[in-house]
Amino acid sequence: MATTGKAKERMPVLFIGHGNPMNALERNEYTRAWERIAADLPRPRAILAVSAHWYTPGARVTAEERPRTIHDFGGFPRQLYEVQYPAAGSPELARLVSDLLAPTPVVLDDRWGLDHGTWSVLVHMFPTADVPVVQLGIDETLTPEEHWDLAVRLRPLRQEGVLIFGSGDVVHNLHTYAWGGHPVEPYDWALRFEQVIRTAIDEDDLETVVGYEELGRDAALAAPTPDHFLPLVYVLAQGGREEPVAYPVEGFDGGSVSMLGVRIG
Ligand code: ZN
Repeated sequence: MATTGKAKERMPVLFIGHGNPMNALERNEYTRAWERIAADLPRPRAILAVSAHWYTPGARVTAEERPRTIHDFGGFPRQLYEVQYPAAGSPELARLVSDLLAPTPVVLDDRWGLDHGTWSVLVHMFPTADVPVVQLGIDETLTPEEHWDLAVRLRPLRQEGVLIFGSGDVVHNLHTYAWGGHPVEPYDWALRFEQVIRTAIDEDDLETVVGYEELGRDAALAAPTPDHFLPLVYVLAQGGREEPVAYPVEGFDGGSVSMLGVRIG
């Protein structure tokens, strides 16, 4: 992706709580909010997705011209395995990401593709799949602080019309998740943890967000593994203190999955 050298408006940055993969097939309050979010954005030239579901040893980016749609889950209805999201890749953006992350070595990957963290939301945001998509893997060997340091190197992408899209869940505990389908109240610890993180974002107290593992029992229950929380760190690292922050999606699913969405800029 050649840089034009011209000063341009910064693309907003998005974190989306993707929740249950079945959202890909459903139309509900969350998916309607995702449609509205996309309608409110300037049209991106490309999307760099940081999905909770590509948690890898080392840094990787998808570099295929035509990334596959990956059905990385088990036990769902056949229709979900039939979803295809045929967005093009962008080897050019993959190389640019690799250059920006230097000196960290980045593998240009041709095996992964687009996983459901990415496509279950993008089928609603960009249903015609006409914006190229590259995924950045989350290096499982790094601390949250190290992820922050890596993520800030991606800041120039916003000026290039690239939408940085983190897809995870601020609260994500599947052991306590109510799979039955009937609505349940969110757990107290889930509400408290989400509120602490939201307040920290509002107050630009990003040390609390990056240091979330120190938030005690609530954090251990709300983010028992880092994969669904870390995409938020990538998103917040793109912002500046002066930028507006909005929460265009709110709510809990199954008692212990937060659907919170965050838009910066
Ligand atoms: Zn997920």
